[in-house]
Amino acid sequence: MLEDYKDSQKIAYQIFKNAIDRNKLSHAYLIETSGYPFPEEFAKSFVKSILCPFHYTNKKQCKKCFQCDNIDKNSFLEVKIIEPDGIWIKKEQIDNLKSEFSMTSIESDKKIYIINQAEKLNVSAANTLLKFLEEPEKGIIAILLTDNIYQMIDTIVSRCQIVTLNKCFNDDTSLKEKIKSFTQIPETLSENLENNISQIKKFISYFEKYGNETIINTNKLWHDIIKSREEILFAFDIMILYYKDIMNYQIHRNLLFFQVEEELKEIAQQNSLEMINQKIQILLHTKENVKLNANANLLIDKLIIDLKRGNLDGQDCRSYA
Ligand SMILES: [Zn+2]
Repeated sequence: MLEDYKDSQKIAYQIFKNAIDRNKLSHAYLIETSGYPFPEEFAKSFVKSILCPFHYTNKKQCKKCFQCDNIDKNSFLEVKIIEPDGIWIKKEQIDNLKSEFSMTSIESDKKIYIINQAEKLNVSAANTLLKFLEEPEKGIIAILLTDNIYQMIDTIVSRCQIVTLNKCFNDDTSLKEKIKSFTQIPETLSENLENNISQIKKFISYFEKYGNETIINTNKLWHDIIKSREEILFAFDIMILYYKDIMNYQIHRNLLFFQVEEELKEIAQQNSLEMINQKIQILLHTKENVKLNANANLLIDKLIIDLKRGNLDGQDCRSYA
């Protein structure tokens, strides 16, 4: 399983393989996901390599053992996966984890937890986790996944071994292929994809220039192009990827999806890293509402207002206020 990543994630693969082969596992890993779309799958491949009695990494084929099978199904007792409950990861989630892990192991001599989007630990959850990390118990391994390492408190980061994933594309991967690996392209937008993506970028550029005035022009900028729910969800993903690349530009990383163009540079200059991050959080949150129901017209107007104000209904979008 870890072998699957031998080529695409050379460095991370080697770090984890060495740790397993030499039996020198760290008690906490922080995987910086770099926009890689399937970080949990990657983390699970590592977990399986640790727990599988047939030792995946030695290429001895595992024929769906009890461990691997149940880890895949998220039903292995000694492997817990935590993700945000709503916007945040809350203290009680970490408390529950601690109490479950304090019990005697049934299925394994190791207990492993994965925290998805670890930058979303709220302050009290982060402090609780910190105490847990400060007193490592034998056999417990933490795997934290984050796309925003700079949003996590230093005291947590400093207690983890940091592993950075590669972006998962070759230089010659087409935009369409890249987008396809991240989101579903609606058939209706697929034919003229580049053009449609440009339109979505145009909406962002217009908003960045004119702020709330964008509401006056949503017909031309948005509703004429983006109609069905499927298209709206796609447009949200594109906006999220666009802001992520703006962020990559700000922190001098290679862009994953887009080219460095004047408009992107301008947006990067006009926004702090924190502002871009807030915008991404607002888009992720609004996207969830699109899935649930929500009148698309009202939703876009509200999105514009929220993006301009930089928060959701007065809630602070940052992890650490
Ligand atoms: Zn196995």
